[in-house]
Amino acid sequence: MISVEEALQRILGYVEVLGPEEAPLLRALGQVLAEDVHSPFDVPPLDNTAMDGYAVRAVDTRGASPDRPVELEVVGEVAAGYVFPGEVLPGTAVRIMTGAPIPAGADAVVPFEDTDEPFEAPPEGARRLRRHQRVRVFREAAPGANIRRAGEDIARGQRVLRAGSVLRPADIAVLAALGHATVRVVRRPVVAIISTGDELVPVGRPKPENKIYDSNAYGLAALVLRYGGVPRLLGIAKDTVRALKARLERALDADMVVTSAGVSRGYYDVVKEVLAREGEVDFWTVAMKPGKPLAFGCFYRGERRVPHLGLPGNPVSALLAFELFGRPAIFKMMGKRDWSRPRIRAIAEERIDTRTEDRVFFARCVVTHRDGRYYARLTGPQGSGILTSMVYANAVTAIPPEKRVVEPGEEIEVIMLDWGHGEEWGTEPGFLAREPRFP
Ligand code: AMP
Ligand code: MG
Repeated sequence: MISVEEALQRILGYVEVLGPEEAPLLRALGQVLAEDVHSPFDVPPLDNTAMDGYAVRAVDTRGASPDRPVELEVVGEVAAGYVFPGEVLPGTAVRIMTGAPIPAGADAVVPFEDTDEPFEAPPEGARRLRRHQRVRVFREAAPGANIRRAGEDIARGQRVLRAGSVLRPADIAVLAALGHATVRVVRRPVVAIISTGDELVPVGRPKPENKIYDSNAYGLAALVLRYGGVPRLLGIAKDTVRALKARLERALDADMVVTSAGVSRGYYDVVKEVLAREGEVDFWTVAMKPGKPLAFGCFYRGERRVPHLGLPGNPVSALLAFELFGRPAIFKMMGKRDWSRPRIRAIAEERIDTRTEDRVFFARCVVTHRDGRYYARLTGPQGSGILTSMVYANAVTAIPPEKRVVEPGEEIEVIMLDWGHGEEWGTEPGFLAREPRFP
């Protein structure tokens, strides 16, 4: 039996960072930059105004006050996206809108609020400046007032994003600000997903009494999607060597193969046999519950080595094992270096008894936040076939075998799977409204 940590290290030892691709900007959200990004120009490109107002020569406003306003001649108007063709000469001003470049000669902007500019918008059609209009300025403007300098956000040549950073919405925005329609990022892994078992039927088909729907494929594909990979659903293989081999054929151009079920000791657990024959596969018993039997290894396809994660069939085991091992593998392939999750301290609201366990027990919890503290309670029955124990959970807590019992009121560490309120995570209505078992 190997530890969860050791299993993870072995798996990560097999998977490699994928190559780069040129991705359309928006699709690259969540991907890792494959190169540094420098700015080819200044942002903003020109000195411009941060306010709607009047571009003036600061000296002309000296001494202006509500009692003794300065009057200037308005010689024109400029909006964002245009350039004023003339110059602001002494005693004049140019009406200017936020984002418009500062006209030559001006060195400050007086906001409308500090002038006799009427606050209400003029009627449609009367927007244009009347020639030789005058404006009264009620307050002195310091040189540079309300001017955003060229390059004050990003200077030409500046490195804006570093290779290796994960693209978030603000990063996508800055790439757009620099004119990128595409960006060079580490490719997303294609993950082939195969379910095995004679008892399985695909969703969308009628279900005979003695069969169950294949839920693992969907849960696993959803995790692949959530963590940035591209799932490829390859359907269900019957519990025969032939059937599984046929499916595997279609999986081997993927970046990773994930199978579920058929790795335990049963007579029909053919996954082992096929994998051992077709690839280089280890079968491990990992010291965790749920999710003890795990197959891991790789297939060879020409020069390529395709990692394979053989998950147990029980729905909770499959999902949890993927969270623990599949997610870091995907992250590594995507070029990410951090697969830690938020861990917080929470107060156990009920007794968690794991005295019968000889392995780390991953208890599924609902973590709630009340009066500045976090509380954790179990999501009901914790069998590895109880899929709803995952549905209702927003966290797990790992209880080592030597811990044996967690008492109500005890502080435990929980690993958040989803941040936010328990109410948002499918929790059965009334579950959280129930009287807490620990006040
Ligand atoms: P096995 O690992 O094949 O012994 O399967 C363990 C348990 O998981 C059995 O009860 C299976 O019916 C169930 N199981 C296996 N594959 C799936 C699946 N794709 N969806 C839902 N349950 C499954
Ligand atoms: Mg089976």
